[in-house]
Amino acid sequence: MKIIGDYHTHTKYSHGKGTIEENVVMAIKRGLKEIGIAEHGPRVLFVGVSEKKLHKIADEIENLRTKYKEIKILFNIEANLIDIHGNIDVPPSILPRLDMLLVGFHPNILPTYHYLPLAYNNFLASFSSHNLEKARKLNTMALVNAVNKYKIDIITHPGHRIHIDTGLLAKACANRNTALEINCRQGEKIKDFVEVALKEGVKFYINSDAHKPEDVGNFEEGIEIAKKLNIPKEFIVNSN
Ligand SMILES: [Zn+2]
Ligand SMILES: [Zn+2]
Repeated sequence: MKIIGDYHTHTKYSHGKGTIEENVVMAIKRGLKEIGIAEHGPRVLFVGVSEKKLHKIADEIENLRTKYKEIKILFNIEANLIDIHGNIDVPPSILPRLDMLLVGFHPNILPTYHYLPLAYNNFLASFSSHNLEKARKLNTMALVNAVNKYKIDIITHPGHRIHIDTGLLAKACANRNTALEINCRQGEKIKDFVEVALKEGVKFYINSDAHKPEDVGNFEEGIEIAKKLNIPKEFIVNSN
């Protein structure tokens, strides 16, 4: 299996180590046809990227496109869920500039009033199975609402650090043609999630979630999971 594009990579603009250009150069070196810069939306604590900086990233990508014609460079974002209704933190001025919309559920979000029910219930989840079930329901509802509200291309690392009903989320994604991510930084532990999601007919992207240029296009772990679960090639959107 060959993966032709990496749509989820970070840079110095958040907590990554390299520049956009370094990610692009590594993607070319690895033989990729497409590379996406997907920085964190503004609301994630400490590493969120402001609206102003997101525009700067988009401008930088436009310039790099004329310099590196051999690869398609995409301006993506890894947006955050900010409430139970499925709203996300993409500034309205950014939305029309995006090539792809990625959404991830990051628990470390600016604790605004509307985020509190999610923060509170996820905090309680570790104390009893009843609380855990409640958190799982709310988390899933929030993600499904986002999938139905926006045209999301990829849900990043589903189930990472939060409890979700994978089957329900995958069903909603399959209906809306939203893909789930097989994230190469999460390793073996996401195999169970992928296995459950697969049954709902949802499609997947294998992404590196690189936080340094050396990791761009490093798909080994994701490919390993896809092989172990015998995922048909047509279910991996970015394979050829
Ligand atoms: Zn993430
Ligand atoms: Zn990420």
